[in-house]
Amino acid sequence: MKMEALHALFLEHPTICTDTRKVTDNCLFFALKGPNFNGNAFAQEALDKGATYAIIDETDYNTSDKFILCEDVLETLQQLATYHRKQCKAKIISLTGSNGKTTTKELINAVISKKYKTIATKGNLNNHIGVPLTLLSIQEDTEMAIVEMGANHIGEIEMLCNIAQPDFGYITNFGKAHLEGFGSVEGVIQGKSELYNFIRSNGGHIFFNADDPIQKEKLNSCTKKIGFSTTDHQFYNIEFLKANPFVTLKVEETTITTQLIGKYNFPNCCAAIIMGKYFNVPLEEIKSAIESYQPQNNRSQILEKNGFKIILDAYNANPTSMKAALENFSLMDAEHKTLIIGDMFELGTTATEEHQAIADLAKELNFQDVYLVGKNFFGTQTDLLQFETFDALKAHLEDQPLKKGTLLIKGSRGMALERVLDLV
Ligand code: ATP
Ligand code: MG
Repeated sequence: MKMEALHALFLEHPTICTDTRKVTDNCLFFALKGPNFNGNAFAQEALDKGATYAIIDETDYNTSDKFILCEDVLETLQQLATYHRKQCKAKIISLTGSNGKTTTKELINAVISKKYKTIATKGNLNNHIGVPLTLLSIQEDTEMAIVEMGANHIGEIEMLCNIAQPDFGYITNFGKAHLEGFGSVEGVIQGKSELYNFIRSNGGHIFFNADDPIQKEKLNSCTKKIGFSTTDHQFYNIEFLKANPFVTLKVEETTITTQLIGKYNFPNCCAAIIMGKYFNVPLEEIKSAIESYQPQNNRSQILEKNGFKIILDAYNANPTSMKAALENFSLMDAEHKTLIIGDMFELGTTATEEHQAIADLAKELNFQDVYLVGKNFFGTQTDLLQFETFDALKAHLEDQPLKKGTLLIKGSRGMALERVLDLV
């Protein structure tokens, strides 16, 4: 089927589904393949559950006129997304970076949606499937689309840019994340910079943090750039006032008090502010958008339970965000600080060294109690309490409960340290 015809079909049935458990009436089912499943085998079930058509790529399953056979379902989904994106008037703002993408995406969306009709990546759908699905959620009247792009190896951001064709770009930072796939921090810089390269060669504009020396240097010769800085008056100035209890900043004569903890959230707010300014959102509206934003899904969330104050940052962790979180915690005014941190994944050969560095930092910062959880932390040389598994921590806490005070809980997604909440 020609792309034009498939797109016409999509406009008639604009709900895309890739999971038979979530099929809705009149959707188009894309039979994607994963390492453990073949969507083609579920296509008939999708039709039985109400899908109008199923896009498949294996002839064995092609048994009715409700099946649309193509060469490769994933590529077809991606091409349809690009085709759709080109038909729409919406401008695309893409963002990538090692840490803070989702938070920044949500802040940008909060700000930009004060003036424009927007769509944004849902949750963390930021990969080769999530980006096309995000683009396919652009409506006829959408004016701006905010698209998060994630990557764990070189070439991935370039591929996502080719699909999304962004007009504007922002990189949150270059950090120690996904080192397994990128090889080194230099690899991270190269990989994330694919966004800048795409925007520059296609005449778009780049937003950037002019206080980040690597970004500043990389964009030295770029003419279409809009930067923010706390010190350099060539760029839009935003003053950092404090991080505790919440990030507070000053822009022009306006003070903005966020509901975000951690100095690391300051640049995330700045990015949203500078985009708001660029797209002419009134400063009062920018302020109200940022002040009302509350983090969700275990990302630096603040909770209270049974007399404990809990900073739940169990969504994810890598050496850069772990260090930032520990340093922020040590600066907080709080009673009896307890740190519970879990392994950081995808660090390849640097895992031992990076876990040791975090264990050393945790020791140096003198928290009242520290619990290290996971196989990697269990192998560190330290006199802090170590537990090889979550169950070992659980058994220990059942015997010797946590002391009342403030807890910081952080670890990689696979550690699911939000389970600690059941132990409080
Ligand atoms: P993912 O790669 O999982 O999509 P992400 O880049 O979208 O992650 P967020 O989900 O926004 O990042 O934030 C995850 C955690 O990263 C936060 O809870 C916080 O601990 C940390 N973080 C957020 N912003 C920054 C930043 N600018 N610098 C360092 N760490 C940050
Ligand atoms: Mg994310």
